Amino acid sequence: MTTPDVPLRAAIEALPAYVPGARPEPGRRLAKLSSNENPYPPLPSVLSTITEAAADINRYPDMYASDLAAAIAGLHGVPTEWVVTGGGSVAVLSHILEAVCDAGDEVVFPWRSFEAYPILAAVAGAVGVRVPLTADGRHDLPALAAAVTDRTRAVLLCSPNNPTGPALRESEVRAFLAQVPPNVAVVIDEAYAELVRDPNAVDGVAILLDHPNVVVTRTFSKAYGLAGLRVGYGLARPRLAAGIRAASTPFGVNGIAQAAAVASLAAREELLERVAAIVAERERVTMALAGLGVAVPEPQGNFVWLALGERTSEFARHAVEHGVLVRPFAGEGARVSIGTPEENDEFLGLMRAWS
Ligand SMILES: *Cc1c(COP(=O)(O)O)cnc(C)c1O
Repeated sequence: MTTPDVPLRAAIEALPAYVPGARPEPGRRLAKLSSNENPYPPLPSVLSTITEAAADINRYPDMYASDLAAAIAGLHGVPTEWVVTGGGSVAVLSHILEAVCDAGDEVVFPWRSFEAYPILAAVAGAVGVRVPLTADGRHDLPALAAAVTDRTRAVLLCSPNNPTGPALRESEVRAFLAQVPPNVAVVIDEAYAELVRDPNAVDGVAILLDHPNVVVTRTFSKAYGLAGLRVGYGLARPRLAAGIRAASTPFGVNGIAQAAAVASLAAREELLERVAAIVAERERVTMALAGLGVAVPEPQGNFVWLALGERTSEFARHAVEHGVLVRPFAGEGARVSIGTPEENDEFLGLMRAWS
């Protein structure tokens, strides 16, 4: 006798799977340039904090990560009650949508952008509305504003845009916000903020001070190199922040992650030197690509975008044959993370061999 399956929500059945960056097979040494990770291992000071914090894991962590929230508030010059932490900024993004969306509400976002956006919108019960990027891989802000309807509860902006690379400009974001009703949440996802060097780029925190409907998200995964510990945060006005907290998984940031994030903020200057080295490598790679006749959209994160179209999958195979894992988006392009100088040389080598 067969028992009927437990039905899943239609929105869940229809979900595209999140495709993580490929991992090397055991025993094969590959340069992992597929997940925008920081190529450097944790700082010794952060590692010893992690080891010490591990001794307390029989206890639940501080539910609201108070020490971490206070340190983040101090860094950005905002009240502690504006800070919401989560298990990676992906979790914070998810809780923002769960806090503001009812079934059938719309969430507008650029596309192609961070691949979690359509998944998070669907899981929150909302309808994702995708607005195509411009030909040079930037957000089309007038089109995003035009896509906002009475049903729209949130707009997601990604600066710099993953996977294409350009940062949003402050002037275009301000013009956009002037067109969006103040009861629509506008999320500025700044996962790569510390890597941005474009002097005209938006600073989400400055925008947040002027616009109570803005939420800024940041993460310890990229510049700070704590991807494996899962800790990120959002900044929002108190009522919205409380709503996001209410939607959050209880004890969502474990004690080791909280301690490591606090230690990373204490070691911020040292970590930012590494970020500067990654930025220098980004510039070296971009120049070398230009020398090969390969133009990429202005990279402001720790990755470059190759708009390869139909040749994308073939390119990803070519890269693996040359010892490098990249992140292909079939039919569109490949994203290649900036790694160590040696890894970047391997990438440039396979680019020379690609025709
Ligand atoms: C990596 C990334 C995140 C989130 O990473 P977490 O590890 O969940 O903090 C969010 N947004 C974008 C655009 C990213 O690239």
